[in-house]
Amino acid sequence: MRIGFGYDVHRFAEGCELWLGGIKIAHHKGLLGHSDADVVIHAICDALLGAAALGDIGKHFPDTDPKYKGIDSKILLAKTRDLLSEAGFTIQNIDTTIAIQVPKIAPYIELMRVTLSGLLTLDPGQVSVKATTTEKLGFEGREEGVSAYAVVLLEG
Ligand SMILES: [Zn+2]
Repeated sequence: MRIGFGYDVHRFAEGCELWLGGIKIAHHKGLLGHSDADVVIHAICDALLGAAALGDIGKHFPDTDPKYKGIDSKILLAKTRDLLSEAGFTIQNIDTTIAIQVPKIAPYIELMRVTLSGLLTLDPGQVSVKATTTEKLGFEGREEGVSAYAVVLLEG
C-alpha cells in the first residue's frame, strides 16, 4: 500500500472556461493555465504520481511544451493512469477537496465522480470529491483562484 498527496492552484481570469474534475462549470470567469487549468485533475495526477514516486505533473507534462497548450486535463489523467499501471500499481481510492468560494460546486460533484472514476476504470465509490468555501478568507475566499487537494491509496 502506498499513499500519495497532491495540491494545485490556478488563478481566475476573465475569458477562460472553468473546468473542475473533468466537468465544465457554468461561471462568468474561469481558471488560467497552460492546459485547461483543471485544478482538481492536476491535484489527483500529482497524488497518483507521488504515491508511485514517479515525480510530478510538471515533470511528465511540462507547461513549457506547446503540445500541452490548452490540453484537456482528462488526457493527462489518462496518461498518468497508464504510467501507474505500467509501474504495476492499482488505485484503491481517491479523496479530493476543492477550496472554492463561488460558484457552488455541489450540483456537479456526482458528475465529477462518475467522470473521474470512468477515466481511471474505477467504481464511483472509490472516488470522493468534496468542496468547501474558505469562509471568504484567503485567495480562494477573495475569488482570486481555486485550490484542490487530493490523497490517493495505491496497491502494488
Ligand atoms: Zn494545475
